[in-house]
Amino acid sequence: MYLLACEKTSEAIAIDPLDHALCLETANAMGWNIKIVANTHHHHDHIGGNGPVIASTNAELVSHKDAMDAIPDVNRGLMAGDDLHCGEFTLKVMDTPGHTMSHICLYFAGNNDEQPALFCGDTLFNAGVGRCDFGGEPKILHKTFEDHIFPLEDNVRIFPGHDYIENNLEFTLDREPDNKMAISLRDKFKNGLDAESFVSDIGLEREINVFFRLNENQVRAKLASSLDLDIANLDNQKTFIGLRKLRDNW
Ligand SMILES: [Zn+2]
Repeated sequence: MYLLACEKTSEAIAIDPLDHALCLETANAMGWNIKIVANTHHHHDHIGGNGPVIASTNAELVSHKDAMDAIPDVNRGLMAGDDLHCGEFTLKVMDTPGHTMSHICLYFAGNNDEQPALFCGDTLFNAGVGRCDFGGEPKILHKTFEDHIFPLEDNVRIFPGHDYIENNLEFTLDREPDNKMAISLRDKFKNGLDAESFVSDIGLEREINVFFRLNENQVRAKLASSLDLDIANLDNQKTFIGLRKLRDNW
């Protein structure tokens, strides 16, 4: 969950504020007024705190327009390209199906003080991607990555809905044992780097996230061998789907 505020107006957006008490306490301590609660998708571990946050703040609840049936009391449905304004900053709505079929990511384009940032729910994780077996579809998730995630600039910081980076690095290394960047980062965590405060960006993901590395020979060769496939038939989509399948049971 994330709480973002405009420094000038103290108006704030709460994204998937499951731990509503912590969210409200933090806003209170900072002197921020939560104007908007935004849900990336309908899973309970993202919407479960909406009620108490809205009861205390009278915030507007927004979600993907097609998730309005699945999320109680949404005030405004969002579509690709919509802008979410809060004080003097804006988040751009991206339509990113695959983990669920009605999932949004929220993109901050950056300014003089802040690098761009993507609040990506359960679409993209640090060194991994969301699973698709709770209402999603791996082929659609791959298309979301091709259309919306892979084209992002390297300096876009990512803020996912969960943090599985240490386990995800082990999966990358299971699939691509020669990945030096993944080995180096895994070793840093083993030596005490704090995973909770670590923020990845798209440039780093291109190096350490096996789902960004669909063209790598070692990734394809190991996948073909693990799933008994002909490597000559693997393309990026099939590789992505195969990796997702292996990760489901890994
Ligand atoms: Zn989810």
